[in-house]
Amino acid sequence: MPFIELDVLNAPERPTLGIDLGTTYSLVALWREGRPQVLRPAGRPDGRIPSAIWFPSSAPPQVGWPARDHAVTDPGATILSVKRFMGRGLADARADLASVPFPARETENHVIQFEAQGRAWTPQELSALILKEVWRIASAALGEEAPRRAVITVPAYFDEAQRAATRDAARLAGLEVARIVNEPTAASLAYGLEQKKQGTVVVYDLGGGTFDVSILAIEGGVFRVLATAGDTHLGGDDLDRALVELAFEESGVGAEFRADAAFLQGLRLAAERCKIELSSRSESELHISVPEQRLPWRRMVRREELEQRIQPFVQRTLDLCRRALHDARLQTEQIDEVVLVGGSTRIPHVRAEVARFFGRKPHTELNPDEVVAMGAAVQGHVLGGGTRELLLLDVTPLALGLETLGGAVSKIVLRNSPIPCQATEGFTTHADNQTGIDFHVVQGERELAKDCRTLGRFKLRGIPPLPAGMARVSVRFALDADGLLAVTAREESSGAQATIEVQPMNGLSDPEVERMLKESYAHAREDFDQSRLVNLRVEIASMLRALEKSLPGVRGALDRETLLDIEEASAHARTAERLGDVQAVQRLRDELERAAMPLAAALMDSVAKAALQGKKLSEV
Ligand code: ADP
Ligand code: MG
Repeated sequence: MPFIELDVLNAPERPTLGIDLGTTYSLVALWREGRPQVLRPAGRPDGRIPSAIWFPSSAPPQVGWPARDHAVTDPGATILSVKRFMGRGLADARADLASVPFPARETENHVIQFEAQGRAWTPQELSALILKEVWRIASAALGEEAPRRAVITVPAYFDEAQRAATRDAARLAGLEVARIVNEPTAASLAYGLEQKKQGTVVVYDLGGGTFDVSILAIEGGVFRVLATAGDTHLGGDDLDRALVELAFEESGVGAEFRADAAFLQGLRLAAERCKIELSSRSESELHISVPEQRLPWRRMVRREELEQRIQPFVQRTLDLCRRALHDARLQTEQIDEVVLVGGSTRIPHVRAEVARFFGRKPHTELNPDEVVAMGAAVQGHVLGGGTRELLLLDVTPLALGLETLGGAVSKIVLRNSPIPCQATEGFTTHADNQTGIDFHVVQGERELAKDCRTLGRFKLRGIPPLPAGMARVSVRFALDADGLLAVTAREESSGAQATIEVQPMNGLSDPEVERMLKESYAHAREDFDQSRLVNLRVEIASMLRALEKSLPGVRGALDRETLLDIEEASAHARTAERLGDVQAVQRLRDELERAAMPLAAALMDSVAKAALQGKKLSEV
């Protein structure tokens, strides 16, 4: 029907955010003025939003930079790397639980719950907190309410349960998921590689806590994942740790501080700062303040030293690249493009080693932190109807099937099938008068069900009593464009039907999501006030710090009355910590700002005078 086509063509573009929901950092981008643009948090040159959540003792959770800062001052109340728990049960996540300061348990459906602030939080709800903050930042950057539709990226190896958990997190955050897209596919899109008629692309992604390498084949707009390899515990954090070890070896800090969470966090951040500086300079100072010692410990670190210390980690990433090539049955000469993703690929040594390994210069033109979000925004633009030129398809990363008698797997949807797709397979009964069949839905490439991942189990009842082998049961697997699965079983021979849909293991049921949504609406007002309160307190604290720092220098330039006014407002503002009323705290903040006004003017004056006298700013 041509008019429908026309309708689609003329429909206004539906703006769609691109969100990189990362393990350590998340980013958001939107297609504007003909290109994908990263939306940045206020006052930050880069778009990264730490995927960190801080649970203050008497205020709602805080996400992003404030939370990341509290990982140092309040490590017992901060959770990092929630992504590791998405779509996972306790048994899968044992190793990662150690880094979470909250007790964990599991629901009936094997969904993890963390206990914080006296309530239980699933990874989906925690990710939703991050997504809400991401949306808030997007709105602030745009100066208006950001679109609620979003493309969200996930690692290529994410299975059904992990993708479903990501989609549920988005729903809980009030977002409509336009599409779940693989991170390496998004990175390729950011570089416009889908325009290649045919090609093989390696996406090397070294982030904060994880390493992934994907080999993609592009053909007519379809991205097929030929192979993925990686290590979910290899990344920038390990490189920081290499410098932390150097500090322990040389500073003489006692081994007892290895157990001091706050000290360790501070040291880790110092190590990270030093590491990052070494990406653009040949040396950088690592300094730490050792508790109970008066002098801080300082040490110049040369770039070559860092390179030497991180070489074993870089080597491991290259070994994994070799494995992926082997799985894809490719030689390095057959690779057309190499794309670098992840903050850690800023390290010159990493770039050099990757270039040497693949024998070609990798793409580094775009900011490696931002490429995934940018690619997601490109995909959002396409899906929102912004262009019809690009038809993009992903594929399912792992085969989907059913366990058959004897524990083998009958694969129904093969790995690398372009999605959306569906496939149907026929089954029958094994015993006379059998009226039910148990199905075990699995995902994986292995031959035995016990070696694959369980996605769910269900029972088809109501099969009419028939001799063995006479019942005709068809099982349909339908994968939607996000790679999410619905399984339906039906008994055909009798006309009596029984249909059931799989409830994923490690996943939330629809009623659960509904309940969580209702809860979050119910607390919305309260939460809003509470977080406003926390923000105001943080603001007041930083104003007070600034005052303390600058007041002595310009005291002489201010009259007595102004000084008294400032002192009084400061004293009042210091009581903010103890006040629970948002309005009252807001007044304290405003009063402080007003009182400090003449001081700001005096500071400006002295800066201007200094400039006239040819003095440097730092000498004022
Ligand atoms: P993820 O995708 O895992 O959330 P990112 O891709 O944002 O993480 O990478 C974060 C990591 O990149 C951190 O370990 C950070 O220290 C590191 N990083 C960021 N910038 C630089 C830089 N200029 N040099 C070295 N490492 C960097
Ligand atoms: Mg990433």
